[in-house]
Amino acid sequence: MFQDISEKLLTHYVDGAWQAPLTSQMAPVTNPTDESELGRVVLAGRDDVDRAVEAARAGLARFRHSTKQERLELLQRIGEVAEGRLEDLAVVISCEIGAPITMAREQQAAAGLSHLRGFMRALEAQPEREDLPGGDLLIREPVGVSALITPWNWPINQISLKMLAVIATGGACVLKPSEVAPISATIWMEIMDDAGVPAGVVNMIHGDGAAGGELAAHRDVDMVSFTGSTRAGREVMTTAAHDLRRVALELGGKSPNLVFADCGDALEARVRHAVAECFLNTGQSCDAPTRLLVEDSIHDRVVEIAAEAARETRVDDPAKPGDHLGPLVSEAQFTRVQRLIEAGIEEGARPVAGGPGRPEGIERGWWVRPTVFADVTPEMALAREEIFGPVLSIMRFDSEEDAIALANDTPYGLAAYIQTGDPARAERLAARLRAGAIHVNGKSMDEGAPFGGVKQSGFGREGGRAGLETFQEIKTYHAQWDTP
Ligand code: NAD
Repeated sequence: MFQDISEKLLTHYVDGAWQAPLTSQMAPVTNPTDESELGRVVLAGRDDVDRAVEAARAGLARFRHSTKQERLELLQRIGEVAEGRLEDLAVVISCEIGAPITMAREQQAAAGLSHLRGFMRALEAQPEREDLPGGDLLIREPVGVSALITPWNWPINQISLKMLAVIATGGACVLKPSEVAPISATIWMEIMDDAGVPAGVVNMIHGDGAAGGELAAHRDVDMVSFTGSTRAGREVMTTAAHDLRRVALELGGKSPNLVFADCGDALEARVRHAVAECFLNTGQSCDAPTRLLVEDSIHDRVVEIAAEAARETRVDDPAKPGDHLGPLVSEAQFTRVQRLIEAGIEEGARPVAGGPGRPEGIERGWWVRPTVFADVTPEMALAREEIFGPVLSIMRFDSEEDAIALANDTPYGLAAYIQTGDPARAERLAARLRAGAIHVNGKSMDEGAPFGGVKQSGFGREGGRAGLETFQEIKTYHAQWDTP
């Protein structure tokens, strides 16, 4: 498999074929576990972007006339082919981003199928045409050619949320996956090809931020759907503003997790789960609950439980089955996480588990120590910056009002988590927390639930019905046949 894939990393998937690049720049793809080279990936230039967008426009011209039934059948075939490639996806995700294989199988690779089911259900239920009360007609159409720009941290999750919605709505797209995780994206495109997605409907160019910038600025792109850092999201939006191009942004987060004394006997289990959720994917999830806000009366107990849970968290080889953590994805991430851990110590936060440096006995690879800080205060970098590593910051509050103010004191608004035994309190808080998703007592999202944020976490929703609407335009039709 790897031989075949390494060759494809040096091509772009355009107009239903693996095409030689028109420019020759390349970048290494590394294994974060030991810094070894997995292969090399080509970086698209402007000519490659032009060729891919042109193919998408031609693909759109044909595919926009497909019927809903044809698209449902195509999605069904994609599901069948993807099912047979799940293990390949899991293995390469594990190699290219260092995700432990069990988690890569059960969560990273499996995410694509889960989103597929959500979209199929939503598409079946969504009328293509609706009669409006006065007799006019509402018609749903694809938005056109979309540029899909995705990050490395949940590579198949992000790609599938965008590309399956494009297919479901009869649109066309050019994907530019992360240059850090191009192998899983290449397998994903093999799945599209094997499932018989018509030529030109889905195209992929490999490339870095510069290629992403070219794609986002392309005059023949109707919409840019971007997932990644708030920094790059801002650039994408600025570029798109020039031509008033439609934009959907899924950006960073700094999600709060509010823990109340009324958890009672469930407290220990809830706090352990909170630590595990923060550390999942080695802390590299945009909606990770990284700020643990704790009611005064249980503060010391919660710090003890969280510290113990972090000390018990194992880091180990991603190729081994189990629930341990792998390394961070890259040297850049490693440097950033180390800088923020050191800033936390300098600013006076109290490390109660982990700390700077690699875990004992490890000298190569981007491994970090699962870390918990207590005594974090709102102005510290630990409380404000997205760390994107297994680092939990504990802060305290003395009332519900105080908890809400602390939780909302961030430029981000992706998710918020609540641990409480009181349903009325959970509802009250949910109404006042500024976030795209509220999770109570460890409940995750159902299949097809829309995902997205508010404030600087972006806008637009992905998944299910709202995820289809992100890639649709509404046209209204007003006709009369009697002479007025
Ligand atoms: P990144 O912004 O560096 O890169 C994301 C993608 O954008 C990559 O494909 C990259 O090549 C491209 N890119 C970079 N600069 C660009 C530019 N100026 N114009 C166009 N494209 C550009 O982010 P990353 O390091 O790959 O991913 C981590 C970030 O993604 C974190 O901030 C995380 O919170 C965020 N994220 C958000 C969500 C969400 O749904 N909200 C999901 C996953 C990750």
